[in-house]
Amino acid sequence: MIRKSEKSLRRYCQRYTEIENYEQALKGPESYVIHHKKGIELNLSKVELKKAGLYWHRDPSELIFLTKKEHRQIHTIGERNPSYGKGTFSGHKHSEETIKKMKSHKKSEETKRKMSESRKKRWENKKCQTE
Ligand SMILES: [Zn+2]
Repeated sequence: MIRKSEKSLRRYCQRYTEIENYEQALKGPESYVIHHKKGIELNLSKVELKKAGLYWHRDPSELIFLTKKEHRQIHTIGERNPSYGKGTFSGHKHSEETIKKMKSHKKSEETKRKMSESRKKRWENKKCQTE
């Protein structure tokens, strides 16, 4: 089931009936949430997606209905993905040279430790805010 009004679904997506798993979400006994695929792809939280103008009025292809359990899983997998948290969102693609530079750049242990700490914090925050 979908615990959202038609009005609020339309805010996510005008053509919300075309969102992946819609039929299943409509008829299923479990409650479903709308997940923004770009949140994982670009490593952005719900708040960041809103700021970037990627949260409301999206194309159906950017969204998917998931059960709460599946939703939790997808975010956990995102967190484990090696490319997760590397800030791929820049509004444009990196040039080959930039990518080479980024790859060759070695982080100190201290930086790594700090990064994983802040990532953990982010994840804690995200658990409550991301849909
Ligand atoms: Zn999500």
